[in-house]
This record gives sequence, structure tokens and C-alpha cells, in this order.
Amino acid sequence: MTDNTEHPRFHTGSHANSHGGHRRISIFGSTGSIGCNTLDVMAHLGGRDAFQVCAVSGRSNIDLLARQARECGAEIAITADEARYTQLKEALSGTGIEVAAGEAALIEAAGRDTEWVMAGIVGMAGLAPTLAAARRGADIALANKECLVSAGTLFQREIERAGGRLLPVDSEHNAIHQVFDRHQRDSVERIILTASGGPFRSFSSEEMARVTPAMAADHPNWSMGLKISIDSASMFNKALEMIEAMHLFDLRPQQIEVIIHPQSVIHSMVGYHDGSVLAQLGTPDMRTAIGYCLAYPQRPCLPVERLDFARLAQLDFEKPDETRFPPLRLARQAMEKGGLLGAILNGAKEIALEAFIEEKIGFLEMADIVETVMERLGAGVPAIDIQAVYEADAAARMLARELVGD
Ligand code: NAD
Ligand code: MG
Repeated sequence: MTDNTEHPRFHTGSHANSHGGHRRISIFGSTGSIGCNTLDVMAHLGGRDAFQVCAVSGRSNIDLLARQARECGAEIAITADEARYTQLKEALSGTGIEVAAGEAALIEAAGRDTEWVMAGIVGMAGLAPTLAAARRGADIALANKECLVSAGTLFQREIERAGGRLLPVDSEHNAIHQVFDRHQRDSVERIILTASGGPFRSFSSEEMARVTPAMAADHPNWSMGLKISIDSASMFNKALEMIEAMHLFDLRPQQIEVIIHPQSVIHSMVGYHDGSVLAQLGTPDMRTAIGYCLAYPQRPCLPVERLDFARLAQLDFEKPDETRFPPLRLARQAMEKGGLLGAILNGAKEIALEAFIEEKIGFLEMADIVETVMERLGAGVPAIDIQAVYEADAAARMLARELVGD
């Protein structure tokens, strides 16, 4: 350990480390919204007295990545962008922190021995490093929903084979994990995913056709990365989460319901066959879910805002509208047909989302493109191995690019 007096966010002493020593961990996507929240939670749970950080990673925000690596005393910092290697090397010169760039370096770092890994990279790019960590038996805190959407049971099989835990960070899945009775799983009738409805909950289709990326990026309750914020507005995020939940909790498509709940206080629910419904509630702050995964099976003490029910006064619910939000319907198709359709949906969605961000297509065209790609490629081919997942993803991207006009 180096002297940490210059790292005020990683304070020492005041918080006991419940694990009685340093836990060796890595944070992939540390510069993102999930990554920054993870480092914040770590600071509250003892910082460098409690955690020994192996890897941190980012892509374009090199200044932040270098600062994080110094503050947490990381062993290696990796940028996904090879063109930024020199910049990162210079930013960390003299620190003794190893520097690397590119996808192969991310995979190599994910293979380094740690107890716990935050999978906080956005998109399909997160699959390969997360798999590398899963295959050596690390506990995986999974924020990257694309791993399960695209690779589904194959991904889970790798985790089970190596013996690590899969802990869901996504707030809905984290909520379900908290109230899902694993000892009586046959008594689970359904799960109910809550959705805020996003900024366009009450927009007409005509109004939605005209929204801009800046409007779509402005989530009413949660503060998140750009892509997931836009996916929340289009409901593609909820579509991915339905597929994610089906795999994670080993449920049938019919057992997965979605309800619009504009306050984002109930993070999701599990319905049992005695009629009971168990919910997890909290203020919309990802640090609760991240802390749950970091301290599991204990509960950490976290400085998140407490729910004030008197001020809250009411909780609202409404049925989601699959006509205005077709991604929900597309998710059902992907769940029912299974196979590689999740990978196809996600690959096409990532291209359509980028095209919308670059203002090449309109907001509603994202779902049109994904639907067309699913119709043309989604013949219900089974996912036999990870290679097949990558091939389906590539084919979906190629066709989506053609449809976008790239
Ligand atoms: P973000 O955009 O804020 O951060 C993404 C991170 O991934 C950054 O560190 C970025 O540098 C890195 N990255 C981007 N492209 C990359 C690439 N091609 N290769 C390697 N690294 C790359 O995103 P976020 O909001 O933190 O979300 C991360 C993941 O967590 C997503 O899969 C998202 O769906 C999921 N998630 C996020 C939230 C949230 O509150 N932000 C909630 C639930 C789930
Ligand atoms: Mg979520």
C-alpha cells in the first residue's frame, strides 16, 4: 500500500471492514455512471483499508481513469481505445501503475485473480471481459445487462461451472434478488418489473417521432449513462431487462410482467402462489444495489437518502402501452422464441441507438429497425456456443447498419 493521505475519498479507519482484510476486486467501466458509483460505495466501506483494486477501465475519459487509478491504488488501468494508450501512459507515468489498451488487454486484466468484479462496461463490449472473469470463478456484480440478453444461459453456465456468484446490479433485478425466495422457488408465480415510463410516458406517437437525443437522455428519476437513459425513454431498457430477468431467475416468459410506476420507489416485486407480493423499495440511487452486491450476503451501511413515506404520499401504477412502446412486444418475441434472438435484438438495438444519437434516424425508427432485423434474422436458431452469439450479434449489426443507411 502506498501512503493514502492524498486520497481523501479513500479515507481510512472509521469503517470496519467486515471481511477482515483487503478484498481484491476489479472495476470494469469504472469511468461510467455505475463505475463512479462503485468507487463511491467502496470509499464509504473503508476505501483502501478494505479493498485492494486490481483493474480499473474506461474508454475516452482518460483524465478520470488516471485519477481513479491513483486514488484507489489500482494495479492496472486499461482504456478500451488503443489510440489513447499514450495519453493514459503519460497521465500515469511515475506511479508504477501498469497501463494497457484494447479489448485483449481488458480480457487479460479480467482474468487476473480477484474475488469480485464489477461488470460496468456498457453494451456487448462488456461480454468478453465479463466472461473472462466468470470463467475463473470470480463473483460477478453484473450491471452489464447485455451479457445475459445476448448470451443468456451460456453465460450463466460459465459462471456455474467456475463456481462464482452472479449478483445483479440492475436495480430491478437487484430488487428481485433481495425478495426472491430461492429455497421455495416453486412458490414463485411471477415477477413484476417496475418501469418509470421515462420522459415520454404520456407522449403521443406523433410527439415521440419528433424527440431529440437530448430530450431522450433526460431521465426523470435516475442519473445514468447516456445510452441506458435513451434506452429507458424508448423502453428498450425494459425490453432488455425482461430478457435479463428471464435468464437470471430461470423463469418462463409468461411469468414476467412489467408495470409503469412513475415514482421509481418500488424497484420490482415477486408474486408468490399464496397471493403475497414482496417488493423492495428505496430512493432511486444505484449505490444501494451496488453496495448490496459488494457486501453480499451482508448489508452495508450506506449514505443514501432514506425514503420519507409521508412526503411521498402516493405510489402510482399504470399498464404499459405496447403500441407506443414496441420494444416490450419485441422482448416477448425474443423470450418466447429464445435461441439467438436476444443477441439479435441487442445487436440491432445498439446500432439503431448509435444512429439515433448521431441523429441519422428518428426516435421511433429505432424499434422499426430492430423489428425488421429480428424478422429477417430471427429464425429461432439455438445458441450453441458463445461464438454463435458473436456471429448473430455481428449479422444483426450488419443488417441494422444497412437499414440505417450506413
Ligand atoms: P456509462 O456510459 O456511464 O459508462 C460505460 C462504461 O463503459 C465507461 O467506463 C466507458 O468508458 C466504458 N465503455 C464504453 N464503451 C466501451 C467499449 N466499447 N469497450 C470497453 N469499455 C467501454 O454507462 P452506465 O450507465 O454506467 O452503464 C453501464 C452498464 O450498466 C450498462 O450495461 C447499463 O445498461 C447498466 N446499468 C446501468 C445503470 C445506471 O444507473 N447507470 C443501471 C442499471 C444498469
Ligand atoms: Mg434497470
